[in-house]
Amino acid sequence: MYIVVSFKDNIVIMSNIELKNAGLKITLPRVKILSKLESSENHHMSAEDIYKELINDGEVISLATVYRVLTQFEAAKIVIRHHFESDGNSQAVFELNHGDHHDHMVSLKTGKVVEFYDEIIENRQKELAKEYNFKIVDHSMILYGEFLDEE
Ligand SMILES: [Zn+2]
Repeated sequence: MYIVVSFKDNIVIMSNIELKNAGLKITLPRVKILSKLESSENHHMSAEDIYKELINDGEVISLATVYRVLTQFEAAKIVIRHHFESDGNSQAVFELNHGDHHDHMVSLKTGKVVEFYDEIIENRQKELAKEYNFKIVDHSMILYGEFLDEE
């Protein structure tokens, strides 16, 4: 199947491979949304962020479709869903699943997200789990605050 879309060709090819590997059919909305996640400078996007950017690009798509495709991507483990707090409510944010674990710092002031990985924190969690006879399946750590160099 060959689809012509307005994004860079290599990103579209990457998207197609990822969809195939995940066992998902290549459809135009899926390619567009995956391409957006791959090409965007903002690596943590809400469904509305993606929807707005696609509309700005002149694409014809509904917010309901964006939600539906993201849910399919999550089930296929192509994306990871996080819940970030902002203005007192929790917002679902999606990022591509590159298979590398990391945690997040989220600015309550601007919504800026920074990823971090700390070996000491990771190891400490494993030690604690052992101490409590607990098997960790997953974890997420989100630090909320503000970056001191933010406007
Ligand atoms: Zn992340």
